[in-house]
Amino acid sequence: MNIEELIEKVVKGEIKLHQVEKYTNDKHLATEVRRKALEKRFNISLKNIGHYSIDPNQVIGKNIENMIGAVQIPMGVAGPLKINGEYAKGEFYIPLATTEGALVASVNRGCSTLTAAGGVKTTVIDDKMTRAPLLKCPDARRAREIAQWTEENLDYLQEKAVSKITRHGKLRGVKPYIVGNNLYLRFEFETADAMGMNMVTIASEEIMNLIEEQFPDVKYLALSGNLCVDKKPNAMNLINGRGKTVIAEAIIPREIVETKLKTTPELIAEVNYRKNLVGSAQAGSYGFNAHFGNIVGAIFLATGQDEAQITEGSHGITLAEVTPEGDLYTSITMPSLEIGTVGGGTRVPTQREALSIMGIAGGGDPPGTNAKKFAEIIAGAVLAGELSLLAAIAAKHLAKAHKELGR
Ligand code: NAP
Repeated sequence: MNIEELIEKVVKGEIKLHQVEKYTNDKHLATEVRRKALEKRFNISLKNIGHYSIDPNQVIGKNIENMIGAVQIPMGVAGPLKINGEYAKGEFYIPLATTEGALVASVNRGCSTLTAAGGVKTTVIDDKMTRAPLLKCPDARRAREIAQWTEENLDYLQEKAVSKITRHGKLRGVKPYIVGNNLYLRFEFETADAMGMNMVTIASEEIMNLIEEQFPDVKYLALSGNLCVDKKPNAMNLINGRGKTVIAEAIIPREIVETKLKTTPELIAEVNYRKNLVGSAQAGSYGFNAHFGNIVGAIFLATGQDEAQITEGSHGITLAEVTPEGDLYTSITMPSLEIGTVGGGTRVPTQREALSIMGIAGGGDPPGTNAKKFAEIIAGAVLAGELSLLAAIAAKHLAKAHKELGR
């Protein structure tokens, strides 16, 4: 069958979108056939979606199905940002993919202020990827027994299940939750430089098979019992963490706040308290912050992270207070930053190039250090974004007050 005939059959629905690869081994061609079929069917042009440098042979079957092309998002860069981390040390430029005008400029202003103040101190305080399979038990007592057995047999489970699946994944703990006769085992894994969801999902299934063998009266019902928690707003990750839990802090001298941000430490602290803390409490929000999601989203899109996990990346708390010396102390705490520098979308060439701007494409030496460095850079960029927006809001209040006073 020639290409025109293939396109025609896709248009008519005689060949389904996912069946095109059966008629050609060339995934470039399969991509073109699907796109041209859509163009023909809807009498539209998809010429921009058809312009891309990604090799369909590398991504179809790993990152995408039914490929028709690629979407382009403009990418800007903010920086330099000086980071005094335990993994990220020095000045960094942060790639941000967004169509929201002013976002890059705002983060850039925050970077410039923080760098002038001596930089951001970053600390990764926890690192774990979680999966929480669900077991249906005869009753709550049996659920408690199995939870206890699991807690006491982590080494056995690592040896017999996890190490069969992965070299880098390590089972480091489990937190059981029991509701009636349901047992949720929230497994915690170290996943080195991978975000880890595939790794821990496959490893958890292997663990469930062992538990079912060991306890024939329980039934493994779901690989995720929704206590993981993946890709949904939730208090669990806010309180217990998931992925990297990371903090970025800085002290900004009053003079720098006044000259670079055109406001005062007092006003920034007051806006933060009344907006990010009180306002968020009243809203029942998990994001006690101004806009973590903006910066996390733009970095995730630029670097091939799982975009649905921007949800949990938007959780967290911003603090701002005036020091006894009259300077500004500010920090951001991100409890669940689910990121990686290997696996998933990080292997797509444009995304990998974006990671290389920060010197973190691929696995770290030793393994795990690149992902932690990445967490510190994101935290630094998020602090820059928070500071800049808080200052903009504070300065507007100040300007308004001046206007009112001057009349
Ligand atoms: P992955 O690509 O499935 O696994 C990472 C791979 O990199 C493993 O084969 C690992 O080998 C290897 N590796 C090499 N060097 C490494 C290093 N330094 N550190 C860690 N691993 C290294 O990626 P993943 O992070 O587990 O999964 C990410 C994907 O999961 C994303 O595409 C995401 O969208 C998707 N996802 C899946 C689920 C799910 O339920 N399955 C849910 C949400 C998201 P070893 O394993 O031998 O160590």
